[in-house]
Amino acid sequence: MNPTVYFVIPCYNEQEVLEETVKRLTAKLGAMGGQGLAGPKSRVLLVDDGSKDRTWEIIARLHKENRLVEGVKLAHNRGHQHALLCGLMTAMPLCDCAISLDADLQDDVDALDQFVAKYLEGCDVVYGVRNKRDTDTWFKRTTAEGFYKVMKLLGVDVVFNHADYRLMSRRALEGLSEYKEVNLFLRGIVPLIGYRSDYVYYDRHERFAGESKYPLKKMISLALDGITSFSVKPLKLISNFGILISILSVFGLLYALVSYFAGWAVSGWTAIVCSIWLLGGLQMLCLGVVGGYIGKIYSEVKARPRYRVEELLQQEETGPEPTGSKK
Ligand code: UDP
Ligand code: MG
Repeated sequence: MNPTVYFVIPCYNEQEVLEETVKRLTAKLGAMGGQGLAGPKSRVLLVDDGSKDRTWEIIARLHKENRLVEGVKLAHNRGHQHALLCGLMTAMPLCDCAISLDADLQDDVDALDQFVAKYLEGCDVVYGVRNKRDTDTWFKRTTAEGFYKVMKLLGVDVVFNHADYRLMSRRALEGLSEYKEVNLFLRGIVPLIGYRSDYVYYDRHERFAGESKYPLKKMISLALDGITSFSVKPLKLISNFGILISILSVFGLLYALVSYFAGWAVSGWTAIVCSIWLLGGLQMLCLGVVGGYIGKIYSEVKARPRYRVEELLQQEETGPEPTGSKK
């Protein structure tokens, strides 16, 4: 039986690209059906993220004209990550696997078969990874690659050069639904879900039409969400900094005392310098201790699932005796 595949596409003010995108994706879905990669219930699901232009009108019309097109409209603009989550959660009970991609045809449509092929081989998550970034400006390339490196340094498990072009099986989506956090950074959550995963490498194209909906402000806010939602290392850094200042303060103290006894210091200077160094170090250390507790509260509040069972092997006789069998 061919898998039911959903293409999930968040759209924000995408009136210029929608028709072409849907044309390409429905044609692709048809072709994949012929190759045994997509079942008859497969669909293209468009999520309107509170667009201010004619995006929803176009989605509604395409839905009427084409039985492969479905739509969901958010009541307001919640941003790419939330729109994507909404699409994935809408698709979850209806599909075997869902592939998320951008509305602007930057994610290579021809690579879609490879995602499903990997799913059929038994992968639950397939990450689309960009071969190169030559379609990006120098600024975007440098900042994006720098961001992945900082994330690695902070101990966050993210796939290098993977954005949100990705396939997730239904059970991976169910795993995702257990993450209730509000500050969403899907690229960080998906690797936490586990299961077998693989990569598909693709060339990212230029935006087909329209402008990027990710201005610098949104990019920075996504990057900060990525860091602050996944790493408590910055808090730990405060403690380390406190220890460093405390060690330095010993030298500062020694220098102040030597100056005092050698008679280089004006009266009162030694006491001030000693207290500044000692108190500075102490304050940093205390902040670090408080930070340690805040870090714990932060992970408790997230209430992320603690584990996920992939398979369970049990013998038939395992478990409590059925009632009535007791003598
Ligand atoms: N998007 C969205 N809500 C937003 C911003 C963007 O749903 O608030 C969608 C947008 O329509 C597109 C995808 O997110 O399908 C990626 O945005 P874009 O292509 O503008 O980002 P870029 O490729 O420039 O990083
Ligand atoms: Mg884009």
